[in-house]
Amino acid sequence: NTDGTDTKDYTQSRTHHADHTGRLIVLTGPTAVGKGTVETELRAHHPEVWVSVSATTRAPRPGEVDGRTYWFMNEAEFLAKEAQGWFLETAVVHNMAHYGTPLQPVLDHIASNTPTILEIDLQGARRVKDRAADMGLDVVYVFIAPPSYDELVRRLVGRGTENEEQRRKRLETAKLELASESEFDVTIVNNTVEQCAEDLWAIIAKEYGLEQ
Ligand code: 5GP
Repeated sequence: NTDGTDTKDYTQSRTHHADHTGRLIVLTGPTAVGKGTVETELRAHHPEVWVSVSATTRAPRPGEVDGRTYWFMNEAEFLAKEAQGWFLETAVVHNMAHYGTPLQPVLDHIASNTPTILEIDLQGARRVKDRAADMGLDVVYVFIAPPSYDELVRRLVGRGTENEEQRRKRLETAKLELASESEFDVTIVNNTVEQCAEDLWAIIAKEYGLEQ
C-alpha cells in the first residue's frame, strides 16, 4: 500500500485504491508445502484466476511443460533478460538456479483487473515489496505454512523429485522461510488442499471485491 495507513489485516476494507494501477496476490511458502497443488485446486474452481508463469534456469522435472509450468531457459538467456529489465523480480533460489517473474504479462493482467497470483520465494516477495509502492501496486502477501516442520519434511521426501543434497538445501531454505512468516499479511496453514484453496479464494475475493 502506498499511503502507509492501511493495516496488515486483509479483512479490513481497503478504501485507498484510487492511486493504484493494479492488485496482486503474492504467494510464498517453503518448499514442498503444496503451493502448486493448491493453485491447481483453486484454478479448477476459479479459472478466472491467473497464475504468473515464472522463468527459471533449473532443469524441468518430469511432466513439466515449457511455457506452462515455467519458461525454462539457460543462464545466459536469463541474465540477458534480467539486464533488459524483463523481470518484475528475480532471485537465486536454494543457491542453485535463477527464478524470475516476467513483468509484462503481470502488467497486462493487472491492467484488466484479473485476479493475479505470483508464486515466488521469500526473496522475490521482498523484492516485490520494495517495488510495489513505486509501481502503484496493491499487494496482499500470503504465506502458506505446513501443519508442522516434520510434515514438511515428510512431503518433501515423499515427493521424491530431489536428491539428498537438493533436499538438504531446500530444508535449510525452508527453515529460513518459516521464520519469515510475520512479514506476510496473512498465513494459510495447508492442512488439506481443499481448505487451503478455499482460504486463498476468500483472500482473493476480498481483495478484488468478488463474490465469495
Ligand atoms: P521449484 O524449483 O520447486 O519449482 O521452486 C523453487 C522455489 O522457487 C519455490 O519456493 C518457488 O516459490 C520459487 N519460485 C518460483 N518461481 C519464482 C519466481 O519467479 N521468482 C522467485 N523469486 N521465486 C520463484
